[in-house]
Amino acid sequence: MWQAEAVVDLGAVAGNVAHLRGLTRAEVMAVVKADGYGHGAVPVARAALRGGATWLGVATLDEAYELRGAGIDAPMLAWLVTPGTPLAGAVRRDIDLSAATVGQLDEVADAGRREGRAARVHLKIDTGLGRGGATPQYWPDLVTAAAKAQADGAVEVVGTWSHLACADEPGHPSVDRQLAAFTDALAVAERAGLRPAYRHLANSAGLLSRPDTHFDLVRAGISTYGLSPIAGWPAAAALVPAMTLRARILVTKRVPAGQGVSYGLTYTTPRETTLAVVPLGYADGIPRAASNAGPVLVGGARHTIAGRVCMDQFVVDAGDDPVADGDVAVLFGPGTDGEPTADDWAAVLSTISYEVVSRIGPRARRVYV
Ligand code: PLP
Repeated sequence: MWQAEAVVDLGAVAGNVAHLRGLTRAEVMAVVKADGYGHGAVPVARAALRGGATWLGVATLDEAYELRGAGIDAPMLAWLVTPGTPLAGAVRRDIDLSAATVGQLDEVADAGRREGRAARVHLKIDTGLGRGGATPQYWPDLVTAAAKAQADGAVEVVGTWSHLACADEPGHPSVDRQLAAFTDALAVAERAGLRPAYRHLANSAGLLSRPDTHFDLVRAGISTYGLSPIAGWPAAAALVPAMTLRARILVTKRVPAGQGVSYGLTYTTPRETTLAVVPLGYADGIPRAASNAGPVLVGGARHTIAGRVCMDQFVVDAGDDPVADGDVAVLFGPGTDGEPTADDWAAVLSTISYEVVSRIGPRARRVYV
């Protein structure tokens, strides 16, 4: 008997990617970092490839190794590698690496030389996000070094890339600025003799809202999972949220008015009511900030978490709705059966759906349908 589970609709993942492919002439990289945004990297990667993705994107090398270890041989980029990390294994497994400094490029090239083959590399420019990437000041040195390493056979420059800061705010002027900076950087690379096959800039928001950012490849994360980075955006309306988080109610009980609920007694029943205890808590990724706020479908109706979220459980005041021990409480899902959505949770928590789904811990077993 299961207690708490995140049900992941892999058909929805494949369908979402197919929909995204229909929006662009570029190839689609499904971003499956952070265990596939909490959905499970390996099953999601397979479903995304079924839906037409031709690339996979991850943050860390361990994430890339997990996918390769599962027999997934699609082109794959890992972009968050700490200096000094041994890279030979990545080169051997055909995992593309990102380089944003001459030092990083040297490490990639060294690994290529050691393995006796050109290490596949994507050069990253900071077009304005102010995170990783070479700023325009350092970019000419990076492309010059990369052109030389490529001529030596130590690397193959597969891509040139950058990341958008505000594409989720349609009309934000920074998108135009970043696009112009990206185009300038490509011209600098070309003058150094580099014309990589994959120029990539867009995330889900760029994919959905700015075709001029698509270039050769788009990196689709949140939209793969059926969630939109832009509320109410028409091109996202066809996406289907893939994750449903639910748990079986541990116990229900009738209590009188005036009953305090959970640590700190921050909630008091206003009338005689039914309390239902749900076995998910902040250790499972239900933030304590959802205390007296998080929406849950219980007994056929939406209710709010009563009192504080604990480490392993929380309580719902179900009123007089019919609810019994072992009934299913749904925290979020596609929203088609009256349940809240990850976006509803994000609104309550003043965060984004990315955080809601990617925080769900392993005690909620993943079930694939
Ligand atoms: N590209 C990079 C470098 C990222 O870090 C991410 C995720 O944050 C993505 C693409 C995917 O972004 P999104 O989930 O908004 O599509």
